[in-house]
Amino acid sequence: MKTPPPESPGDLGTIYENEMVDENHKKALEFIEEVTTNAEQVQKRVLYEILSRNEHVEYLQRHRLNGHTDSVTFKTTVPIITYEDLKPDIDRIIAKGNTYSPPILCAQPISKFYCTSGTSSGVRKRIPTTEEDNERRGVFRSLVKPVLNQYIPGLDKGKAMFILVAQPEDPTPGGINITPSSTGRYKSAYFMKDKNFTSPIQTILCEDSYQSIYSQFLCGLCHNKLVVRFGAGFASRLVRNIRFFKEHWSHLCNDIRTGTIDYARITDPLVQKAVLEVLKENSGPELADFIETECMRDDASWKGIISRLWPNTKYIEVIVTGSMSQYIPAIDFYSNSLPIISCRYSTSECNMGINLNPLSKPDQVSYTLIPTMAYYEFLPVHDSNSSDARNQEQEPVDLTAVELGRDYELVITTYTGLYRYRVGDVLRVAGFKNNAPQFQYMGRSNKLPSVATERIDEVELQNAVNIAANHLMKFIHVSLVDYTCFTDTTSTTPGHYVLYFELHCGMSDALVSRSSVFEECCLALEESLGNYYCFVRKEGTVGPLEIKIVEKGTFDKLMNYAISQGAPVSQYKTPRCVKLDPIVELLNSSVVSNYYSQACPKYNGM
Ligand code: AMP
Repeated sequence: MKTPPPESPGDLGTIYENEMVDENHKKALEFIEEVTTNAEQVQKRVLYEILSRNEHVEYLQRHRLNGHTDSVTFKTTVPIITYEDLKPDIDRIIAKGNTYSPPILCAQPISKFYCTSGTSSGVRKRIPTTEEDNERRGVFRSLVKPVLNQYIPGLDKGKAMFILVAQPEDPTPGGINITPSSTGRYKSAYFMKDKNFTSPIQTILCEDSYQSIYSQFLCGLCHNKLVVRFGAGFASRLVRNIRFFKEHWSHLCNDIRTGTIDYARITDPLVQKAVLEVLKENSGPELADFIETECMRDDASWKGIISRLWPNTKYIEVIVTGSMSQYIPAIDFYSNSLPIISCRYSTSECNMGINLNPLSKPDQVSYTLIPTMAYYEFLPVHDSNSSDARNQEQEPVDLTAVELGRDYELVITTYTGLYRYRVGDVLRVAGFKNNAPQFQYMGRSNKLPSVATERIDEVELQNAVNIAANHLMKFIHVSLVDYTCFTDTTSTTPGHYVLYFELHCGMSDALVSRSSVFEECCLALEESLGNYYCFVRKEGTVGPLEIKIVEKGTFDKLMNYAISQGAPVSQYKTPRCVKLDPIVELLNSSVVSNYYSQACPKYNGM
C-alpha cells in the first residue's frame, strides 16, 4: 500500500489555503453571532423580503394580503396550513410547471420539487425549491464546519467517510423534476467543491444504491488512515451501512487485495473508473490483511469496528436526536463510544437549525434556528388530552417570544412559497444563543389514529416506548432495534393499539419463556401514555395494548418496501405509525410472538 505524501509545512499553497479556511471560518462564526444577536430584526427583514418579492403570487392574492409585508397583517390574513391544504396548488404546478401567470406560490421559477421521506406513512410531500434556495442551503451548510472546528480542530486536514446515496429524479408533466433534498445537495455546486470526502462524487451520484454503497466502502477503506469523521445522515442509515459492510467485507477485502473490482458487481462505468483510480494508489495485500484480521477478530459482535478500521476517526457525525436516539447504543458499540455529533436540524422544506455545542451529549443536543433561513412561528403544544389542547386554539408566537422549557410546533414561511406552513415537528426550548432560541427536537406532531376519544402523538408514543424498552432491558438482555404502531380497530372490539417491536437478543428462547415480562412491558407502556389514555382503558372504549415481536430484519424489509415506493434512501426514517395495508400485512407476516396487557393501567382521575 502506498502512503500519502507528507504535508509540507513550507508549502505556500497549503499556508494560503489554511489562511483562507481560517478566514472563512471566522466570517461564519461572526455571521452566527450577528444573526442570533439581532434575531428579531433579522426575522422582520426576512418576512419583508419574502412577502415583497412574492407580492403578486396567486396564493397571497387569494388571501388578500394586498402587498402588506408586516407580521401583524400577515398573521391575520394568511392562514396556518398543512401540506394537505397546499397539495392542490402543488398538484397544479406538477401538472403545468412554471407556466402560470402570475406564479402560484413563488415569484422565482421552481427548479425542483424535493420529496420527503414519509412514503410508508402514506404522505408523499413535494416541496418546491429554487436555484436561489440551493445557494441559501449552501450558506447554511457552510456554517457547520466552522462550529465543529472550534471544538475539534484539524478537520480540514483529514477526510470524511460518509456513505451518501443519490437517487434518480422523477419527471413531472410540467417539466419540474422531483428529487430527494439529499440528492439535491449532492448535486449542488457547494457540495461538489468539497474535496474532503473519501467517496468520489461518481460513487455518490450512482443511482444504483448497491453499487453506490459498495464502492463507497471500498474507497473509504482505501483511505482508512486519513478518515477523521465517519458518518451518515440519520443514525438508522449508519447502522444499516455497517450491516451492509458486515455482509460484504470479504468481497471488499478481495478487491483491495487484488487492486481491482468485480465488474459484475460494479457495472456503472463512471463508478468503475473512479474506484479503480482510488484502488491504484491505495490498495494492496497489507491493507487487505489488516481489514481481514479486524473483521474476523470477533465476528459475532464487531465491537469497535469503526474505530479499529478507521483508527483516526475523531467522532461520528450522524443525527441521533428524536426517534433516532434508539440507535445510540448500536453506534456506541460499533465506534467504541466515540463522540456522536448531530450537527443540524433540517427538512426538505428548509435548512434551519445548527448545533452550536457539538460535543453535548445526545440527549442534551439543541439546535439554534438560523434566523435568515425562514420566517418562523411557534404554536404552543399541550399534552394532547389536556383541557387546554381540547378547548383552546393557541396563537402562534414569534422566534424571540418563545418560553424556556415549553414545547412548540414549528410553522415556517419560506422564500420558496410556503406560507405559515406546519412542518409537523415538535421542538422544546432548551436555551438561547444571544437572542435566538435553541431547540431540542422532540418528534413529529402527528397524532396516531384514535380508537375512541383519546389522542396520542408520536412524541408521547416515543416517550412511552423508551420507558417500556428500559423496563424490558431490566429483566432480559435485549435492546429495541426499531418499532412502529398500528391502531387496530377491526380485529378486536373495542379496538386497541398494536406496537411492533424488533428486538436484538442473543438468545431467542429466553424471549419465549419470559412472557410475563412482555405483559408488564405492555402495561408500562400504557401507563406512560397519559391519564386520558388510562381513562379510556378503564372506561373500556379502548382494549388492552398489544406488543407484537417481529423477526429480525423486518424493519429492513419495511425500509426496502418504502424505498421501492419512492422513499429517499438517505432520508428514510421508520414511520412511527403505520396505516397502509401492505405495510401492516408485511409486519403481521413477520410476527413471532405477541403479548397483551393483562391489567388495566392505573387511572388517577381527571
Ligand atoms: P425530510 O424532509 O424527509 O428530510 O425529513 C425531515 C424530518 O426529519 C424533519 O421534519 C424531522 O422530523 C426529521 N429531522 C430532521 N433533522 C432532525 C434532527 N436533527 N433530529 C431529529 N429529527 C430530525
